[in-house]
Amino acid sequence: MMTELNQASSKNAQPVAQTQVAKVPVNVLIVGVGGQGVIMVSKVLASLCQQQGYEVKQSEVHGMAKRGGSVFSHVRFGEKVYSPTIPVGQADVLVALEWAEGLRWLPYLKPETGIFIADTQKIVPPFACRDRKHGAANGYAKETVADISQMISNCYAADAGTTAAELGNARAANTLLLGMLSTTLDFPESEWRDIISKFVPPKTIDINMQAFDQGREWVERYDPAALAQGQAEAGSVAQQPHQVQFELPVITEAWCKSCDICVKFCPERCLSLNENQVAELTKPELCTLCRICERLCPDFAISLNYKH
Ligand code: SF4
Ligand code: SF4
Repeated sequence: MMTELNQASSKNAQPVAQTQVAKVPVNVLIVGVGGQGVIMVSKVLASLCQQQGYEVKQSEVHGMAKRGGSVFSHVRFGEKVYSPTIPVGQADVLVALEWAEGLRWLPYLKPETGIFIADTQKIVPPFACRDRKHGAANGYAKETVADISQMISNCYAADAGTTAAELGNARAANTLLLGMLSTTLDFPESEWRDIISKFVPPKTIDINMQAFDQGREWVERYDPAALAQGQAEAGSVAQQPHQVQFELPVITEAWCKSCDICVKFCPERCLSLNENQVAELTKPELCTLCRICERLCPDFAISLNYKH
């Protein structure tokens, strides 16, 4: 199938490529951290491209996700695609589900024409928090959306997480980003919707469709000039990266093997093994939500859920 990638229905999103896809593979890089849904976004896109008749190559790394490693997926599609990986400087679109991960992968974007689509949510890794006092500064990336917009002309950074949470399901943030992505690729909108509906839980289809609409509308409303002037509502949603908040650790007793690792490594000493030799949060008031226990538990018995 032959088609041109263009700005679809959006007045704002820039063309990914003016050449016919059939001749030049299109490269979309999707990045984030474990548990965010990078692979789901990647699979939606790859399935859609395949359905449109393109050869698709997809590669992904997610093995270390639970231990705080990044997750990324390369999707390449066109008439003929030989390699599954995108070389540095060759991504037409970079979709970041987490702000710092997006910044880390910016060198992969095409210097002049690459499009950066990002969620402004910050998931600060535990080891960026060297000062363990409440409210202390951390080593997370300091660049703001305005800083990146000055470097990249096609920067679309939205607070997808909050918008999705307001719709009723924070996980629909990924679909909002897919809505933004859809404005850069000339695939029929109805087919995006069909594919997304197959990948999300049936009960969440309505919310995901609303999130998809919000993503498309966000790009329509986006006003880089307002952003340059420091107006917070340039894209109708907050512009600055903001830290994701977590709730206190939850311990799944049945999975705890009493190894004591979390107890020993908790910097605040707020965990103990109880009389049944199961980990317990005994001093919640001292917990800094650093997530080290979650990262280190070999049995996935501890989790800190997002607070939206
Ligand atoms: S209980 Fe876990 S999240 Fe809380 S301070 Fe200790 S290691 Fe960090
Ligand atoms: S690290 Fe995990 S398995 Fe080990 S004591 Fe803590 S909760 Fe239990």
